[in-house]
Amino acid sequence: MQSAQQQIVIIGTGGTIAGAAGSATDNVGYKAGQLSVATLVGAVPALQSEALEAEQLAQLDSKDMDEVTWARLARRVQQHLDREEVRGIVITHGTDTLEETAYLLQRVLAPRKPVVLTAAMRPATALQADGPQNLLDAVAVAKTPGARGVVAVMAGQVLHGLEIRKTHTYRLDAFEPGPDTGLLGVVEEGVVRAFRDWPTGEALGAAVLPEDAARWPWVEVLASHGGARGQALEAWRQAGLQGLVLACTGNGTVHQALGAAVEALRQSGVPVWRTTRCAQGRIVGAADEKAAQLTPWAARIELSLQLLQQH
Ligand code: ASP
Repeated sequence: MQSAQQQIVIIGTGGTIAGAAGSATDNVGYKAGQLSVATLVGAVPALQSEALEAEQLAQLDSKDMDEVTWARLARRVQQHLDREEVRGIVITHGTDTLEETAYLLQRVLAPRKPVVLTAAMRPATALQADGPQNLLDAVAVAKTPGARGVVAVMAGQVLHGLEIRKTHTYRLDAFEPGPDTGLLGVVEEGVVRAFRDWPTGEALGAAVLPEDAARWPWVEVLASHGGARGQALEAWRQAGLQGLVLACTGNGTVHQALGAAVEALRQSGVPVWRTTRCAQGRIVGAADEKAAQLTPWAARIELSLQLLQQH
C-alpha cells in the first residue's frame, strides 16, 4: 500500500477520450467509449511512474448518460474518497454531458479531496488526440496540494464543477466557465496556477440518488421560442411530469402560447423553474436566484435533487 494520500484513482466512464475511428484523420466519425481506461492510462508514458489505479465503471457515449450510472458513480467515488491513502479521483467522461455529471457530483459529494473530470474532443485514434494530455493534466490537478471539490480539466484549463458549460461543438477548448466568473486555473507543464478558490459546499450525500431509475423524478427542460405551442407541455403534464425547467428567452421571458400550460402545471403542484437560454448572463430580478444563474441543464439536476430530497 502507498504511504498516506498518494494514490490517485482513475475511473473510466467512456466518451470520446476512449473513442476510436477507422482513420487517424477522422475526428468526428468515431465511436465513443471503445478503449478501456487502463488502455488510456497505458498510453501516457509520464503516468507510468505514478501511484495510480484504474477502474472501469461504465463505457458510455455520455450523450446516453443515465440516472443509474450517476448513482453508481457517486457511490463509487465516495467509497474511494473514504480511503485514507487516496489523494484524489480522476474521472474520464464524454464531453456532451460532462457539465451535468460535474454539477451532480459537486452537489452530492462536495468532496474535501479533488474529483477531476476530464474528457477529449478527439478520439484516441486521432492524429493529434487531446485525451492523453488532458488525462495527464487531470492527474496533476488531483495531486495538487490544497485542491478539493469537483472540477473539470480540459485543454490546459481548470473549471469549477458547478459552473462549467460546453460551448463549442468541435474546438479542443470546448468548455467555458460561468458567464460572470473565470477559470479556476490553468495547468502549465504539470503545475496548477489557481486563480480562484476550489469548489466547496455542503454534501447532500450519495444516498440521495436512487439506484433504481424508476425512483428518479421526471424532470424536463423546455425551451421557449418563436412559434411555441403549449400542446407538448400539456401532454407532459397529463403523462405525469414532476418538474419543469424552462429555458426562457432573454431575461426569463416565456412565449404567451405556453402560458396556460405552464399555469396548469403549477396548479397541479409541479415546480416550474425559469432559466435563460442565453449563453451569457443570468435572469436579473428572478424570484428563484439559484435557478436564475444556472444553465437549463444544471437547473434540471438541481431540481431533480430537490425533488429527491422531498421523497
Ligand atoms: N458524444 C461524446 C460523449 O459525450 C462526445 C465527447 O466525448 O466529446 O461521450
